[in-house]
Amino acid sequence: MTTVAVTGGAGFLGSHLCDRMLAEGHRVICIDNFITGRRANVEHLADRDDFRLLEHDISQPFFLDEDVDYILHFASPASPIDYLELPIQTLKVGSLGTHNMLGLAKTKGARLLLASTSEVYGDPLVHPQPETYWGNVNPVGPRGVYDEAKRFAEAMVMAYHRVHGVETRIVRIFNTYGPRMRPRDGRVVPAFIQQALTGEPLTVFGDGSQTRSFCFVDDLVEGIYRLLLSDRVEPTNIGNPGEMTILDFARHITRLTGSESEISFRDLPTDDPKIRQPDISVARDVLGWQPRVELDEGLLRTIEYFRQYLQEEGRLEA
Ligand code: UDP
Repeated sequence: MTTVAVTGGAGFLGSHLCDRMLAEGHRVICIDNFITGRRANVEHLADRDDFRLLEHDISQPFFLDEDVDYILHFASPASPIDYLELPIQTLKVGSLGTHNMLGLAKTKGARLLLASTSEVYGDPLVHPQPETYWGNVNPVGPRGVYDEAKRFAEAMVMAYHRVHGVETRIVRIFNTYGPRMRPRDGRVVPAFIQQALTGEPLTVFGDGSQTRSFCFVDDLVEGIYRLLLSDRVEPTNIGNPGEMTILDFARHITRLTGSESEISFRDLPTDDPKIRQPDISVARDVLGWQPRVELDEGLLRTIEYFRQYLQEEGRLEA
């Protein structure tokens, strides 16, 4: 039986990966320190024999008492609000955490897949962004802690591959949404959906002319699974190229939820990228992958998740 360790396994993406790996018949070891991950995301797996949950901060040394075949390294604060609140943890998990996991991969002879990010492109001067673009990152701005940690992590992964022959994969993840996003992580999808459902104004940062391209989590997980099993060592973009402005996105959410919320404009956060769209030619050619879930279908499933969450919290009538 193949064993897969998932760092950040109780987070949004990590927990969906745990589900997928178990569904593929693999054993899963979920490692999380719960600073941004949530036990609720993996509660449904707790009683399974093929699932093991370890509470650990992987920025600290980590020893595993069993063999492991794959390491999916997803641990990190991942929303702009989280990494503003946890800048040092973000830097440490990207650097020390990645170092520790590469050491584990080397010892166990495991293949490691690093969750990298479109943030490595910073505020991009090339559009859409292909993997060959080196990016435009401000290292000392508030977002630098995440962007540079992930850039360092990519460099470290490539060094372990080149020097020690560790089998490695790097996925550059673009904006992804779906059930199990943390309700108050401040990212645009959970923020707008909850504001729309509760009748609060939708908080559009800046004039809303900045763009993003949103990928549903099931599509992302499929792309990551294919990348893991592929031979591709170089970074690979996975995301949905459907791009829209944040203002249009806000209007779209109010339409889909049937909300009467207004739009209220707030200051644009420092270094907020003005445009973002993945060039997914490599994923198409090498992995035969492209997103399948239409935006409205994915959003309706996500809206349903948040509706239930708000009802359980008593913030919305059943
Ligand atoms: N955004 C917004 N209102 C919010 C949260 C985010 O207008 O309540 C904007 C944010 O400024 C950015 C985009 O939505 O331009 C996506 O933000 P998010 O935090 O989801 O992730 P990012 O793509 O910036 O990492």
